[in-house]
Amino acid sequence: MIDPRPLIVEVCHLLAARTFTTATGGNVSIRLPDDTAWVTPSRLHKARVTADDLVRVTLGGAQVEGSRSASSETPMHLAMYRALPEAGAIIHAHPPAATGFAQANNTIDTRSSSEATVILGPEVPLIPYDRPSTDSLAVLVGASMRPDRHAYLMAQHGVLTWGTDLWDAYDILDTLEIFTMSLLVSTLIGGAAPLPPEELAWLAKKAGG
Ligand SMILES: [Zn+2]
Repeated sequence: MIDPRPLIVEVCHLLAARTFTTATGGNVSIRLPDDTAWVTPSRLHKARVTADDLVRVTLGGAQVEGSRSASSETPMHLAMYRALPEAGAIIHAHPPAATGFAQANNTIDTRSSSEATVILGPEVPLIPYDRPSTDSLAVLVGASMRPDRHAYLMAQHGVLTWGTDLWDAYDILDTLEIFTMSLLVSTLIGGAAPLPPEELAWLAKKAGG
């Protein structure tokens, strides 16, 4: 099997370069076929992550490889993998525009963009607030997962995306943040115009298969 660690490192550096997360904030993981996962370590700026810093854990949370401490949000990633058998990779990040909606306790209405509504669904759901890095947050996040929603806001915190692989999860995060920036521009010039219901129905069908 191809070593997935260089890809995690590449995506961590992209998250930092594109300001999709704060310094040591956010975390990235890839699930392996043996039901272990590589995760990013705690307390390391995403621009500085190397393959040697990554940690491999079982879906039960036991560390089996790596000398650093796994991200404190590892239980949240593992709860998502247990809830979503099709998830192969997860990104948690703090991109400023989408996180702004999470800080306002708002969902994001994507119905003004044909691309965003196909990729993200008609609305990006908001997971209620719970304390960061706690078991109760992991349980809440796991229970909030839906197979038909790949992006979520976390109230007063940040965002989560998952995909079949890490580029998939990254592309969804990219779409979420850039769409949210364009939504703010629409708001400044009078408000985003949602597509008509029949067009949304056609797009939902396209998204479904
Ligand atoms: Zn966070």
